[in-house]
Amino acid sequence: MKERLEELEQEAILKVEKAETIDALKNVRVEYLGKKGPITEVLRGMGKLSKEERPVIGQLANEVREKISVAIDEKQSKLEDEALEEQLKDESIDVTLPGRPVQVGGPHLLTSIIEEIEDLFIGMGFDIREGPEVETDYYNFEALNLPKGHPARDMQDTFYITEELLMRTHTSPVQARTMGQKDGKEPVKMICPGKVYRRDTDDATHSHQFTQIEGLLVDENVRMSDLKGVLQTFAHKMFGEEREIRLRPSFFPFTEPSVEMDISCKMCGGKGCSVCKGSGWIEILGAGMVHPNVLEMSGYDSKKYSGFAFGMGPERIAMLKHGIDDIRHFYTNDVRFLSQYHNA
Ligand SMILES: [Zn+2]
Repeated sequence: MKERLEELEQEAILKVEKAETIDALKNVRVEYLGKKGPITEVLRGMGKLSKEERPVIGQLANEVREKISVAIDEKQSKLEDEALEEQLKDESIDVTLPGRPVQVGGPHLLTSIIEEIEDLFIGMGFDIREGPEVETDYYNFEALNLPKGHPARDMQDTFYITEELLMRTHTSPVQARTMGQKDGKEPVKMICPGKVYRRDTDDATHSHQFTQIEGLLVDENVRMSDLKGVLQTFAHKMFGEEREIRLRPSFFPFTEPSVEMDISCKMCGGKGCSVCKGSGWIEILGAGMVHPNVLEMSGYDSKKYSGFAFGMGPERIAMLKHGIDDIRHFYTNDVRFLSQYHNA
């Protein structure tokens, strides 16, 4: 019986060594250690042995069973390790592969231009103000020296919601509202960027909705030379230190005197070319000294306070700065156009 057990042990160990898969190993376990296995068989036959032999064989049988079991366990963990290693090899990630490109968006060119202009004026001490796009007739026209029936209202024909409510035609009502809040006592130094609406037919230079930035400074002893200084600083920072500015007389109902500001043409340096239509100058914005009526209507004593105002179109600034030929590019949202200016 002792020989039989030793034989079984060698046989089993050999099979364990030969097993190449976990399944094969499982079979060996069932074959030798199962209830119907040869070792159980040996133990069953122990009844025929003498009292002296019984514990010896019993112990040996247990030892053999233990050795086979340990060998199977060891082999099993070895096979499992190998399988894991194989799996890791299959699933490994090649970190040297280039990644898939992700489309990164950026601010719209108009947003960038408006933010650039805002930064510039914040640097000169101006506040940023906003107001409603649906405005009252009073703030959009009357408070700005444009009473009902004034011919200049025709230039700004717009979308009316009721007789007294309309889509604002300019951002000037924000100025009137801000002055009103100050109760005619405190100085005002602000710019107001925002969307405005006019009943225009869309073409390369017109749109029924566009953006505007207006500025207003009201204080004691504000002079025309202060306006010129601020506009010159703006032109230099926005378009380059070499650009010259020129103020031409103009008319706006809410300023007196009123001016148009031109900057010298970058293309020809002032000699005259197709971009500046031969004049050497390019129109940038309108400005002027705040009309005394506008100051009085907002509660300021026009004998004590004076001020200047200006207004510009960010679309026009962007078009001049980047050589864009059609205002509609800003609104059609063609990514091929917009993505060119993500770092502008
Ligand atoms: Zn030119």
